Amino acid sequence: MRYILSLGGNLGDVEATMRSAIRRIAMLGIVPLESKVYESEPWGFEAKERFKNMTIELDTGLEPLALLDELQRIEREMGRDHKTIDGQYQSRNIDIDILLCDERVVDTERLTIPHKLMHLREFALAPTAEHWADWWHPILGKTVGELLAQLG
Ligand code: ADP
Ligand code: MG
Repeated sequence: MRYILSLGGNLGDVEATMRSAIRRIAMLGIVPLESKVYESEPWGFEAKERFKNMTIELDTGLEPLALLDELQRIEREMGRDHKTIDGQYQSRNIDIDILLCDERVVDTERLTIPHKLMHLREFALAPTAEHWADWWHPILGKTVGELLAQLG
């Protein structure tokens, strides 16, 4: 399977944390391509540090839920804190989200693919459009490039 993964964070040396996360992710298969690192304003909450985001491709035999287990293990190993305090977003050193898996649709309690907010998030779409603009969103029926253009 070919996966598009979004990496993000805003705490500590985010780029070093991303490098180290990518080394671990590469042990799950092959990472043939990486985007550059993009900077953006924090989303959904107040935080001083700017967010950094990037997109990578992972080619692996792991099924989606097995991959989610591995990515969450890597997040924990990278020292990620809990997501929320009283339902608020908070700063984190690494967040790894699965954006796309080929043209598959997964809709379970633990995992939704395509990621349910990717089409609304410039910080996910812009790095993805760098190498994967032609990838197809199987629910919305648009490419990543079209989704980015639609954000305006
Ligand atoms: P967020 O990514 O929204 O900032 P988390 O990383 O804490 O927040 O994710 C919350 C939950 O989202 C995870 O426990 C995971 O089970 C679920 N989830 C659903 N779909 C996905 C996806 N496509 N990629 C990663 N996690 C997902
Ligand atoms: Mg996440």
